[in-house]
Parts: sequence; C-alpha cells; structure tokens
Amino acid sequence: MKRAVYPGSFDPVTLGHLDVIKRSAKLVDELIVAVLQNNKKNPLFSVEERVKILKEVTKDISNIRIESFSGLSIDFAQRCEAGFLVRGLRAITDFDYELQMAQTNRIMAPEVDTVFLTTSLEYAYLSSSTVKEVAFYGGDISKFVPEPVVRAIESKLAERQPMK
Ligand code: ADP
Repeated sequence: MKRAVYPGSFDPVTLGHLDVIKRSAKLVDELIVAVLQNNKKNPLFSVEERVKILKEVTKDISNIRIESFSGLSIDFAQRCEAGFLVRGLRAITDFDYELQMAQTNRIMAPEVDTVFLTTSLEYAYLSSSTVKEVAFYGGDISKFVPEPVVRAIESKLAERQPMK
C-alpha cells in the first residue's frame, strides 16, 4: 500500500493546493491531506473549518483522507505509516526551506521520502496569504480558490467586520 501525507496549513485551500492534491492522489494508493493545527500562525479558519472545506472540495477523489494534526509533519507521517511526504514547490523562494526540512526529516525518519511536485504554472504565484489579503480588501478571489472557499471567506469576513 503506497500511502502519502500532504501536510500544510491550508488556511484556506487554494487551487494551487488542489492541483497538488489531484496530481499526488494519482501517484499513490492513499493520500492523506493533513491540516496543521498551528496557533502561532493566527489562522483565519479553525482546523475543523479547514478540514470541512477540504473534504467538500475533494469529495470526488476516492483515495483521499483529510485529517488534522499538531506537531511535526514527519511524526504524523510515521504514525500514519506513510512512505511519502508530499510538498509543493512554487519558486526558488520555497526551495531553500523545503530542502532544509526534507533533509532534516530524512535524518529523523529515513523510511519516509519527501516528494516534491512543482506547481502548475498558472498557480505559481498563488498562496493562501495572498488570497486572504485580496479577500480582505474586497477583491475577487474566484480565480484563486474553489467555489466553497469563496463563500466560506465571505461569511468569515462578514463575521469579523459586522455591518455598522
Ligand atoms: P505551510 O504552512 O506548510 O507552508 P501551506 O498550506 O501554505 O502550508 O502549503 C502547503 C504546501 O503546499 C507547501 O508545500 C507549499 O509549498 C505548497 N503550496 C502552496 N501553494 C502552492 C501552489 N500554488 N502550488 C503548488 N504548491 C503550493
């Protein structure tokens, strides 16, 4: 059984993440998308909300599980008995950090290999933080995120900025 874990904050999931999810699901028997509980990042969506959105936007993929975790991705991958950690690479700016993490993780768990998928060009610029920034200032994010995320962000921002 080839199993991979794709960890991330997914706050919120973007079309760039979804592209990596769809492509990596084809490479393995089971893909676990693992949502990091990271209080330091002051997320827009709670872990439960992020898991729910991810489940909705991946409902057509049969070999996928959405889970949440806290702590180190590599420990979570080991607990899941995964052979691979999936990460996405957008630009050279991702590379330095990702290489450092992959090398560190290999020392901690040599049985888990990190696999990088390079972003599809149309999503190379895309990040969750850009999406939040655009949405916060009232911009159209429908080209950057799946439809359920557009609605979820709208209601989240309405909650945060109640009409006077
Ligand atoms: P993290 O906090 O772990 O960086 P993110 O949710 O921002 O969590 O990203 C999770 C993974 O997805 C990372 O490997 C990141 O490089 C990758 N990723 C993010 N956006 C894109 C994109 N547009 N194309 C490809 N990979 C991406």
